[in-house]
Amino acid sequence: MPTHLHDLTFDELRALLTADGLKPAHAATLWNSLHFKADTDQLGRTDFLPPLRKWLEAHLGSDCQTDVLPIATQTPSSDGLTRKYLLKLHDSQEIETVIMGYTGRHTACISTQAGCAMGCVFCATGQMGFVRHLRPGEIVAQVHHARRVLREHGERLRNLVLMGMGEPLHNYDNVMKALGIISDTRGANIGPSKISISTVGVVPGILRMAEENSPYNLAVSLHGSTEAERAALIPANQRWPLSDLISACRTYSEKTDRKIFFAWTLIAGVNDTPDHAHRVATLLAGIQAHVNLIPLNETAGYEGRESAETAGDVFHRIIQDAGIPCTIRQRRGIDVAAGCGQLKAVRNRDKKAV
Ligand code: SAH
Ligand code: SF4
Repeated sequence: MPTHLHDLTFDELRALLTADGLKPAHAATLWNSLHFKADTDQLGRTDFLPPLRKWLEAHLGSDCQTDVLPIATQTPSSDGLTRKYLLKLHDSQEIETVIMGYTGRHTACISTQAGCAMGCVFCATGQMGFVRHLRPGEIVAQVHHARRVLREHGERLRNLVLMGMGEPLHNYDNVMKALGIISDTRGANIGPSKISISTVGVVPGILRMAEENSPYNLAVSLHGSTEAERAALIPANQRWPLSDLISACRTYSEKTDRKIFFAWTLIAGVNDTPDHAHRVATLLAGIQAHVNLIPLNETAGYEGRESAETAGDVFHRIIQDAGIPCTIRQRRGIDVAAGCGQLKAVRNRDKKAV
């Protein structure tokens, strides 16, 4: 198994190079190229000093690899602000990364797994099933890809959401390591407060974030206000019931004193009535919460329809009247299936593993 250079933290990269007799300064140069400049071709760097060059020539492509994910396809959305990329991993699996532009700030929505094991009925990634976890470098590489694209347009990547394919807290260690690398001020330097992790409700992961006082924003996908209602949409509710999830959120809230963003996908006739809204308000009482309402995006494998605008407005008002800040999320990239829950790649199980 080769060493993937993008998997390594600054200290790990330095340890790797100094163990081979290089100076710490060489490691800093390489780190700068990998993570600050996000250069794609390390051997093409003519300015590297001979020891580093020689080391790279000896190792790259044999026992060391970089993660530069080639674009399999890219699809700009007609709204001109959203761009979806299908990126290819070393084992030919494909994952999706979406760049969303809002005035003055750009956000990348990145994947943490190829496929997803959680099987949410309304989600295209859930419908495709689980393929594998992404390594830290494969998560980092999506961020660098988005930064390079934006740089060409004279823009900077400011925000990151882990809301692409996969369940981040099911791949906890790799995700947290990747975020440490991405937020390193010597590299991509995206501040922890600009990074949001969205989870379907993996209770042990939420409790671990609370324990570690994790500096990233936490978003929890709720979607159901009773155990049965939620389990019908999110099979993972059987493993981590709503009651346990809410109590984990309370623990998180108390330990970290941070706000939690709760996502609620509005599905016509399924979870969009005033009763649902009142139950949500009751569930979240006492938690520092912000509710994001997401109109359902259609996927091939689910018959549900998005709620009528009026139902969404009523829902919105009830939550707000209960004293909980609430927003209806702007829709982006629906025409190119880059909206929430529309991300999927063709499963590619027969290719050799990394
Ligand atoms: N696995 C994580 C993060 C990826 S999904 C999670 O579930 O939170 C990102 C968000 O998109 C989640 O809130 C999810 O519930 C929502 N989503 C999934 N499918 C959707 C769809 N078809 N329409 C609208 N939102 C959807
Ligand atoms: Fe996985 Fe999130 Fe999709 Fe559920 S909504 S299947 S957890 S990616």
